[in-house]
Formats: sequence, structure tokens, C-alpha cells
Amino acid sequence: MKIRPVRGTHDLFGEEIKKFNIIKNIVSKIAKLNSFNEFQSPIFEFTDLFLKPLGEHSDVVLKEMYTFKDRNDEQLTLRPEYTTPMIRGAITNNLLNDLPQKLYGLGPMFRRERPQKGRYRQFNQINFEIFGTDDYLADFELIFIANEILKSLLPNNNFELHLNSLGSKLNLTKYKSVLSKYFQDKKRFLTNESKEKIYSNPLRILDSKYNEDQEVCDLAPRINEYLDQDLKNHFERLKKALNLCNIKYKENHKLVRGLDYYCSTVFEFKTNDIGSQNTLLGGGRYDGLIGALGGPNIPGIGWAAGVERVSMLMDQSININNSLVHVALMDEKYKDHLINLINYLNKNSIEYFWNFKYNLKKSLSKASEDKIKYIIIIGEDEFINNSYTIKNLLNGKQSQKRLDEIKNYLNDKS
Ligand code: AMP
Repeated sequence: MKIRPVRGTHDLFGEEIKKFNIIKNIVSKIAKLNSFNEFQSPIFEFTDLFLKPLGEHSDVVLKEMYTFKDRNDEQLTLRPEYTTPMIRGAITNNLLNDLPQKLYGLGPMFRRERPQKGRYRQFNQINFEIFGTDDYLADFELIFIANEILKSLLPNNNFELHLNSLGSKLNLTKYKSVLSKYFQDKKRFLTNESKEKIYSNPLRILDSKYNEDQEVCDLAPRINEYLDQDLKNHFERLKKALNLCNIKYKENHKLVRGLDYYCSTVFEFKTNDIGSQNTLLGGGRYDGLIGALGGPNIPGIGWAAGVERVSMLMDQSININNSLVHVALMDEKYKDHLINLINYLNKNSIEYFWNFKYNLKKSLSKASEDKIKYIIIIGEDEFINNSYTIKNLLNGKQSQKRLDEIKNYLNDKS
């Protein structure tokens, strides 16, 4: 048997795991700054949690969920997204007694999509959610945080915020029927894929990737002509708040998002730098969803970003930590000396690397290859004098030190 990874999955190691951890650190730092609490849910839930809220005609439910029967015949699904599990968790842990709730999380999601660059079957998402307020400042805060995170991780990258309002659920239902009628009249110009959605999910035709469909969509009735006045105001105030912080956006009347639970504000951050899978982050309001899942009838809003897509755009050259020290042992005879050093370095939180090679030349060339500043050498001399030689590989200077002097020496000279 030849072992292989499951299609659409990938291992994280080397530079990739370093980037993953940088993303995690930035996310938790910005979450803390804005008083969002971390929430981790299990990776599987009862299937019913996802079916209705995501929409029985959505691609995720129709084609992409990993659903299986447990031994006692219960239908379970690997979570394809984080919003519904977070709401389930907030309800079952009684978090909604204290509103608003600001939660965030980062973890793996599962969708059986056709794998390609930037699209996997197991991928990681960052999620931010606010439960319990319909204030436009919640929309602003979430978009602001998304922008801060992307700016910190991708300082050299161009990404663009696309913004739209879908109005209330009622308004959206009206708009869907207007749109469906319009597409029925233009059916002959649409691709087969879009024809299938005319009755079940006309909104999704708007973000079709085919030119034929887009030509029809360009002349379609626009959602902003159907917005209720209070949500129109909500949207205008949000845009003003973004202007105040100089966050640029593009109004995109075709932005509808893929899942059924959205209404009112929807947004995406897009980039032109990673090919066809160009959405880094997407989200919006889902007023009504928490009530539909058995919670109180309170509004909610949130977003999800793809960790792998952000990671693909991050600079390849991650700064090598200057404090990292290499250790070279010239002979197996001095192993006890090394054990004392390892103990000391750990106690003093000094990162080190050692390669089990017992060969000074190999250790030196590895250290210079890794652009390491200091190497600590243990040989005959050091063994006899009960000391350690510290060599600065940048200027060639070296000095023999006792174990308890190493930390100060590295600090003084760095
Ligand atoms: P969605 O929940 O579909 O709105 O996705 C939110 C974000 O998650 C997207 O903008 C992507 O960055 C990321 N994402 C969604 N699906 C995948 C996937 N199959 N592979 C990698 N990233 C994904």
C-alpha cells in the first residue's frame, strides 16, 4: 500500500507553519485589543445545524458537506463554516444572557470542493462574530478589524473591500422574485449552470463567473432600488464611518454571498494576486439566524477569512530570529557538557539548534547557511576548562565563557 494524503488536504510544516503561527498571533492580538473572546467549537456537529441556515439550495449543502452516520445512526457533519457552530455554542453555553457577545475563533473547516490553488477540502478559517446588536457600528467594527488584520499580515499587498446591502429578509424575498422573473425572460442567454438557479437561487446568478451570465446581470434590476429606508440609512452610516477611518471600499451591487442566512450589509475583501480564488475574507449580517437556530430573536453579524489564502500572499522571507543560537559538539565524549548547556539555555529561554552531528565543520556551515549570528562550541579545551566558546559568525570574534555567563554575554553583544 502506498500511503498518501487525502485529496484537497495539506500538511503544515516549515515556512507554512511559521506563517500560520504569525497569523494566529496577529489575530489574537487584534481580537484582544477589541475585546473579542476566543471560542473553539468541536469540528463536527449534527447535520441539521447546517441544512436550513446555509440554504438547502446552496452549493455547500448540495455538494460539499462531509456528512456521515455515527454508529447510533445520528447524522453528523464536519463543520463547513464557523458561524452556525458559534451560534449553537453561544446558545448551549448560555452566553446570550449577556449581550452583545463578541467572539472569534480560528480552526479547520471542511468542504468537498474541487481542489485547486487556494481551494482545499480541509482549510483554516479565522472568524469574528458579534451577536446581539443591529447598530451599524458593529458592522463598522468588524470591517475595521478585518482591515487591520489584513493590513498587518499583508503590508505590501493590494486588497480591496467590496460592499453591498441586501436589505431586510422581507425585502430580499421581494427582490429575489423580481430577479427570478427577469432571469426567466432572459433564460436563453444564460449558461446551463445559471438556468438551474433561476427559481431556486436567482441571487447566485449575480456572482456567476461566466461572461454570458454577467452580460445579462449587468442589466438586471439592482438590489439598492428595493432597499427599505431604515436599512438604506444603516448602509449610508456604515459607509460614512469607513470614510472617517479612510477605509476604501467599492460598492458592488452584485455581491450576494453564498449562504442563505445573509441580509443587510455584506462585504468581501478581494485581491488580484492569487488567481481565480481571489476572495480573502467575506461576511455580513445574519439577522434572524440566531432565532431560527432556537436562540433569542437577536441580530448578528460576522466574517470569515481563509488562512491559506492570506498565507499565500505573505512575504516568503520571514525574519529569522536573531537570538537563535547554534551549538556545535566536536566529539561524543562531551555529551554531558552539552546536556548542561541545553538545561541552561532552556531555563534562560534562549532558543538553540543542535544537529547531532559531532562535527565542527558541518555545524559551522549549517549555522552560516541559516544566517545564525552565534555558535556555541564544545571541544577538548572547553571540556577541560569547564567553559563554552561563543563565536560571533558575523565578525569572527570568539570568547570562552562559563555556563552562567552565557546569557549576559549574548545580551550584551546582540
Ligand atoms: P465563505 O465561508 O465561503 O464565505 O469563505 C470565507 C473565506 O474562507 C473565503 O474568502 C476564503 O478565503 C476561505 N475559503 C473558503 N473556502 C475555501 C476552501 N475550499 N479552501 C481554502 N479557503 C477557503
